[in-house]
Amino acid sequence: MLCVVVCLGSGPSSAAADLAVELCAAELPAGVVRVQTQQAVPQVTYARNAREILDQTGVRQEAVALGLTLTSVSVGMEVVLHRAQSQDGTIGCARPEIDITLSHASMEIMLASEIERDACVSALVLEHEMTHVAIERETLQRAAESLSAQMQTYYRDRILSGDEAQAMARLEHEFDQRWAPVLNALLQASNVRHAQYDARDRYGDKEACRGDLMRIARSIH
Ligand SMILES: [Zn+2]
Repeated sequence: MLCVVVCLGSGPSSAAADLAVELCAAELPAGVVRVQTQQAVPQVTYARNAREILDQTGVRQEAVALGLTLTSVSVGMEVVLHRAQSQDGTIGCARPEIDITLSHASMEIMLASEIERDACVSALVLEHEMTHVAIERETLQRAAESLSAQMQTYYRDRILSGDEAQAMARLEHEFDQRWAPVLNALLQASNVRHAQYDARDRYGDKEACRGDLMRIARSIH
């Protein structure tokens, strides 16, 4: 090619650039992804009454809610980039070592203010809510295992080309676009399990706590 002043075809051809990236990647260790979980100690509060708790559940039907567990998950990510360069220094590439922590940032068990003075009913509802806590914890753990396996497969041999800032930007973009939706779907798997458990366990029967449970429920309704 004859270039006069400005050569539009300048720079290495893309095939040559690909080869340079491959060569530089051969020097890199395999990509690694680890995902760990951090559990929270549930905080029990009687700050809301049964009506306010029912509003939080979004259930519109005739119902009495004496307890509710709310959790939120936060995601922390730390990345170490292992980088290499082509011999002439013009092409850089990287593979990541990613450490992700999925945390239950908050876990609140709301018990209705109406049951605060009744130790027996409180214990019954708290026991029910603790199963929801267990489901949330198990779900977080399973999500971590699945996310870890999927990301490990994806990043083990993947090559991030460009400089450090470009590689980091790509990882962040991929987490938002590719992995956050995967994580959300994994966490929402608990919805069905909560519903199944609620359909099974209704805090006990009419005789629970010598009838106190039913008396309180009726007085609220
Ligand atoms: Zn429940």
